[in-house]
Amino acid sequence: MAAEFVAKSLEIKGIVQGVGFRPFVYQLANKYSLKGEVANTSSGVSISIEGTRESIESFCGDLADKTPPLAYITKISVNSEPLEGFKNFSIVKSREQSFISTLISPDVSICDDCLRELFDPDDRRYQYPFINCTNCGPRYTIIDNIPYDRPNTSMKHFKMCKKCQAEYDDPEDRRFHAQPNACAKCGPHVALYDNTKREIPCRNPVDRASSFLKQGYIVAIKGLGGFHLAVDAENSDAVALLRRRKNREEKPLAIMSYDIDRIRKFAYVEPEEEVLLTSSQRPIVILKKKEPNSISEEVSPRNRYFGTMIPYTPLHYIILRHDFTALVMTSGNISEEPIAIDNEDAFERLSAIADFFLIHNRDIYLRSDDSIVKRTAGATRIVRRSRGYVPIPVFLKKKVPQILACGGGLKSTACLTKDNQAFLSQHIGDLENLATYDFFKLTINHMKRILDIDPEIIAYDLHPDYLSTRYAQKQVNIKKIQVQHHHAHVVSCMAENMLEGQVIGLSFDGTGFGTDGCIWGGEVLIAEVGAFKRAAHLSYVPMPGSESAIKEPWRMAVSYLYDAFGDKLWDLDLPVLREIDKKNLKIIVDMISKRINSPYTSSLGRLFDGIAAIIGIRNRVSFEGQAAMELEMLAGEETQATYDYEWLYEGLYKIALKPIIQGVTKDVEHGVRPSEISAKFHLTLIHLFSELCDVLRDERDINRIVLSGGVFQNSILLAGLITSLEAKGFVVFSHKKVTANDGGISLGQAMVAAAVAGK
Ligand code: ZN
Ligand code: ZN
Ligand code: FE
Repeated sequence: MAAEFVAKSLEIKGIVQGVGFRPFVYQLANKYSLKGEVANTSSGVSISIEGTRESIESFCGDLADKTPPLAYITKISVNSEPLEGFKNFSIVKSREQSFISTLISPDVSICDDCLRELFDPDDRRYQYPFINCTNCGPRYTIIDNIPYDRPNTSMKHFKMCKKCQAEYDDPEDRRFHAQPNACAKCGPHVALYDNTKREIPCRNPVDRASSFLKQGYIVAIKGLGGFHLAVDAENSDAVALLRRRKNREEKPLAIMSYDIDRIRKFAYVEPEEEVLLTSSQRPIVILKKKEPNSISEEVSPRNRYFGTMIPYTPLHYIILRHDFTALVMTSGNISEEPIAIDNEDAFERLSAIADFFLIHNRDIYLRSDDSIVKRTAGATRIVRRSRGYVPIPVFLKKKVPQILACGGGLKSTACLTKDNQAFLSQHIGDLENLATYDFFKLTINHMKRILDIDPEIIAYDLHPDYLSTRYAQKQVNIKKIQVQHHHAHVVSCMAENMLEGQVIGLSFDGTGFGTDGCIWGGEVLIAEVGAFKRAAHLSYVPMPGSESAIKEPWRMAVSYLYDAFGDKLWDLDLPVLREIDKKNLKIIVDMISKRINSPYTSSLGRLFDGIAAIIGIRNRVSFEGQAAMELEMLAGEETQATYDYEWLYEGLYKIALKPIIQGVTKDVEHGVRPSEISAKFHLTLIHLFSELCDVLRDERDINRIVLSGGVFQNSILLAGLITSLEAKGFVVFSHKKVTANDGGISLGQAMVAAAVAGK
């Protein structure tokens, strides 16, 4: 019996253009002897196929399972059609002119095929630092407009040579319609300069730069999403010099190593971490240090981890192939400013830091920092969502209006929504200087353009002084909705987990403006997307000197001690009190007792800082969260012990800090090791909040817990609370797609605004 022929039409949505999808379909159709055609449309890709029922089924199976690495399918719809009698399978010209609603691919690390060619002396692109194909290379950072075609990218300045053009035109070639396609003959080039902007004449600038790195020099390297500052990670003098010149005292520096084998010399790599390291996103993965190791202590001082990545551009591969165990590859910026992307700008801003500049002439249109991830509690947690991930949207449960959400103040991102998609921007940084604010505005305009979004609603934080708030307030002809910071945290986690209805939200961070004008940060909310009620919080204590108390945790220590001991504070025998000048101490106690420039805070981040200072870890920090992080790093031993804790009911639960502070103080006075105190403190929080959730469940009959806020970057707390709450039968949701820190709140703001506007 002859097999029956049928005809089907398929509509594919998602990231399916500019990622080698049509050649993939073409090859698949030939594999199963199907006839028909494939074309780009305004909403994705459409396919017509004819063949036997079985082969069409196999075709559809492969379509979903074997998609090219950069493609990301969100929907396949299949319809039966009458037979047309196609003679072959072909890629046909686009049926429509507009490509507006398709998704743009993030930047993607070099693929295995290109990597092989890169180091093949017989290949015409041997050691060519800009080799790429439809499966790899720059995307988001080189696009200026849509559709994603070469004239709309920074490759428009390079006319393809005959060979490149032939590849570009051939549907069976790996480089069919690869917009950044280039070779040494026709494409971008690297050049080496000194820091007085004089070109260093040499045959091979990359090799020369590598030898400078070997000699301990600092080299600014232009990458995919911006400049890096590189030094040999094994050379302590060089790393120390970089820190000094960059004005970056202690914050860990990211390192790049050629491959997993080299990383294993200095860090442990679990199988899931290996998958992350080698993924096409190539994030920085936070890996546990091996001790001893040959990496300079200066790279990540007082920290148990190294932020490590492997090369993601051909240029990185060529450099790292020289025998470096690892290179420090930190963002090319001065302290908190945005990373440099432009050659001129880099010379201007980085010549006091870098000795040499390895630059190239392919422009970066939009900067994108390296992303950072880590594994905690059996899942991948995103610490910074940027290159490689952006602009893949977070898919939402329902369609929402077009909204622009402006984020917060620190680690900010913006978010634009359209249909059931939320597009978070790349990491923008701390909105505390003009350069970052300009980058914030530029990113919003850029995203509006390439995503074709014209927001009707703008969502922003309650904090009156955030630059993001001021930006939002200045906009005209747009509906404005203010969103409380900790509500936004909880809702961002609800959004990525597609939750609706009520949840108990634990929203823990350093700073967020409360509805009462106080600084919140240790909040338990009864939340739904459109509204929340505060159910519990850490008791308020004054923050003496306001912002200064963030930089000087000893001030918080004094505030907690005063709260717990009152004037008996002066009798305590604690290193933090001995180390601070008596006069200074007196001033701070006065500020606290008289509430001079001392706003109230319920922040859990500050409590971590205060405990760190009380047990003598540090009195001052060089970056936000440093003391808290070191307190976590210190937590050594297994412990079953906790400090006493209690809460009072005054319309809502107020968690008293006095018993915890008294317990910690007693331990310090009795010489208990800081590692034990830290472990006990962590366990106290885990017990305290699990019990509190139990109480709230009984009262309100809510069994779902959502964990969000920057404090959940603390792995001990995150893993401990998940375990403890799940043991009590709660269903616990945490962040996996966006960050728990303030980088995620723009998503929450957008969702809250959508719900509020829809009421
Ligand atoms: Zn490739
Ligand atoms: Zn060429
Ligand atoms: Fe926050």
